[in-house]
Amino acid sequence: MDPTTAPPHVIEHVPSSYDLRPALWRDITRAQWDDWIWQQQNRIRTAAQLEAVLEPTPSEREALRSTQDLFRIGITPHYAALIEREATTCPVRLQCVPQLGETVVLPFELEDPLGEEAHMPVPSVTHRYPDRVLFYVTHHCPVYCRHCTRKRKVGAPQSAPRRDVIEEGLRYIESTPSIRDVLVSGGDPLTLSNERLGVILRRLRRIAHLDVIRLGTRNPVTLPQRIDEGLESLLREVGPVYVNTHFNHPSEATREAEGALARLRAAGCVLGNQMVLLAGVNDDAVAVEQLNRWLLRQGCRPYYVFQADMAQGITHMRTPLERGIALMAALRGRLSGLGVPQFVIDLPGGGGKVPLVPEYAQGEPRPDAWGQRRVFANWRGERFEFVDVDGARLVSQALSGRDR
Ligand SMILES: *Cc1c(COP(=O)(O)O)cnc(C)c1O
Ligand code: SF4
Repeated sequence: MDPTTAPPHVIEHVPSSYDLRPALWRDITRAQWDDWIWQQQNRIRTAAQLEAVLEPTPSEREALRSTQDLFRIGITPHYAALIEREATTCPVRLQCVPQLGETVVLPFELEDPLGEEAHMPVPSVTHRYPDRVLFYVTHHCPVYCRHCTRKRKVGAPQSAPRRDVIEEGLRYIESTPSIRDVLVSGGDPLTLSNERLGVILRRLRRIAHLDVIRLGTRNPVTLPQRIDEGLESLLREVGPVYVNTHFNHPSEATREAEGALARLRAAGCVLGNQMVLLAGVNDDAVAVEQLNRWLLRQGCRPYYVFQADMAQGITHMRTPLERGIALMAALRGRLSGLGVPQFVIDLPGGGGKVPLVPEYAQGEPRPDAWGQRRVFANWRGERFEFVDVDGARLVSQALSGRDR
């Protein structure tokens, strides 16, 4: 096959969410749309508000009723505008409009699938790996993703970490020198004001043993307007900050998101993307290639693709493991290595993340006089043999033979 005959899958047109806005917001000005406070205040939070934007299917209507007490709704006008309103299988819709599948809980599923609670030295910190911690600073998000793995906490008003709980977390990090990397998470930490966030980030920056400050936020996807000038200057001040965001589908690529990512880069942030593999949303190599090419253009490296974990209420979106492995095989070779993330499964019960990779080695190694011969299939399925040896030992043997 001639590599030049396979055209890259690219997004042809990146829209502005403003231009896609539903009739409900027809009279809103561009300035209002670009104001994140307006976006926050006009979020869809009830079934009735949702119906003003799109017509729920009968099963969505039932889901809206039966998930009411399970997990709240939150959809920003920006994100709602990206829903293809006529398509009930729209990938943006599936991520934010409740589906009946959420009410099905299977016996092996877990309320706290990652065992985060079991590894909490203080209530706002999960410390599972020797050198890094998750630090929860809020439980709120502008959009509540239906596939959220922290459903048990996120969005529940009574569970918002209080200031003293955050203070306790800061003290734990300050007094634990083995911690080199703090992942500020939630919920979505950009739900906090720049002022509140500033207090936390400045405290972290003063800790001499920290090498890395990371911010995990979906705001570039769901509320890109939130990346405002104040945030830009804060991040520049305390930087470098590693920002990991969560784009899942090319429909989430907007002019507004491009502006947010550009601003984060201007603030000196190092950008990465953590996608969650979801059935019917992005278990499709063409969509992921489009998304990742667009992300690379924005200076944002695809970092992880997560297997949907054993959380309750997301079963309908969970794919078999082979599908993720097949996705990785499809990306490798077609797409710049910079755009090929790691596919990881976060093991239940706090086992941590393990990467899953396609099998490139073919058959068993065959021993020979030097070491062993191994056959590999490349990204196109062509086979190649590699002679696997302990080179330094062979060379020193060869050289000592020469001396004699
Ligand atoms: C994912 C995770 C991290 C960060 O892991 P990286 O592989 O370094 O991105 C840290 N702590 C916990 C508990 C995690 O789940
Ligand atoms: S932004 Fe993250 S924490 Fe918030 S609902 Fe979505 S997946 Fe959950």
